[in-house]
Amino acid sequence: MRITDKTNPTEFRAIEERYDDMTYRRCGQSGILLPAISLGLWHNYGYLDNLEKGRNILRYAFDSGITHFDLANNYGPPYGSAEENFGILLKRDFAKYRDELIISSKAGFDMWSGPYGNYGSRKYLVSSCDQSLKRMGLDYVDIFYHHRPDPDTPLEETMAALDHIVRQGKALYAGISNYPAEMAERAVNILKDLGTPCLIHQAKYSMFERWVEEDLLDVLEKKGIGCIAFSPLAQGMLTNKYIDGIPENSRAAKSMTYLEKENVEANLSKIKQLNEIALNRGQKLSQMALSWLLKDDRITSVLIGASSTNQLKENIEALDNLVFEEDEIRKIDEVLG
Ligand code: NDP
Repeated sequence: MRITDKTNPTEFRAIEERYDDMTYRRCGQSGILLPAISLGLWHNYGYLDNLEKGRNILRYAFDSGITHFDLANNYGPPYGSAEENFGILLKRDFAKYRDELIISSKAGFDMWSGPYGNYGSRKYLVSSCDQSLKRMGLDYVDIFYHHRPDPDTPLEETMAALDHIVRQGKALYAGISNYPAEMAERAVNILKDLGTPCLIHQAKYSMFERWVEEDLLDVLEKKGIGCIAFSPLAQGMLTNKYIDGIPENSRAAKSMTYLEKENVEANLSKIKQLNEIALNRGQKLSQMALSWLLKDDRITSVLIGASSTNQLKENIEALDNLVFEEDEIRKIDEVLG
């Protein structure tokens, strides 16, 4: 079902001071700076969501210096609808700011039926990028990612597809997502040989998901590739929202999401202990969770989601304190085990 577009038609003028308070970090050894906090449209922008609310969040983000919006072919639900809705909002509010924006999309998960709408073939990536551009009404995206490793397609084919998309001018930069360290290094080397350097790796990283610390971050640093951490709040678990139960309308309470109530309940004791540590350092848990990631300067940006402007405001305020005492780090590590 498509919700009628009832968005406010008044013209959006971004505030002049929008760049004053945001922190920007260099993405690896590239020419691109990304805001320390970026906004993802995985949730809250599908046909079933309130487009006016989504519009306010995007406006607030841009007014706060968030220049990077992240999408993928299959964001919605249904698949494709987040890109379509973003296209509507882009046209209304952000068309005149296009050159101030870094917009990304991806292909790699199942998108359409049959053998050509999933994984990592050249056929899939090139067609999917074309579809994404059409849905968003764009001539190009700034970053086009391969969304996840494909165990069966030769890495050379997938990387050549990214190179092709960049050479066609349909993306300015290439990225990879969810690649383990060894495969990421091979992909980066192939792209370099093709003449289209890999800009960035998008990896799941939060206090609850620390796999990147093992060797991926070292590889990325060595190769001069940026890292953007997705689901840095563990889909909302690393905030105070679940401390007194599962609120209606939260991601864990909704169907068609990837956050199970059982997962929240299993982590509740840790969440409460982390919340205490956060309060003692004068932050909300959400803010401490983001600061904790950003204390490592190998993390270019944390890629959050937000279902309200209040959440977004709270999360941006994490940037006010990125410094941790050794004792705080030790206590956090003890809780996380
Ligand atoms: P987060 O971990 O930031 O979770 C966002 C959710 O947490 C919000 O929707 C909201 O949930 C809750 N939340 C956020 N801030 C607060 C706050 N201050 N107080 C209380 N609750 C809060 O990130 P996501 O999991 O949404 O992922 C972010 C982005 O990462 C995606 O949009 C996408 O762009 C990217 N991504 C990439 C993937 C990949 O494979 N490359 C996979 C998944 C995501 P609620 O709705 O309950 O209010």
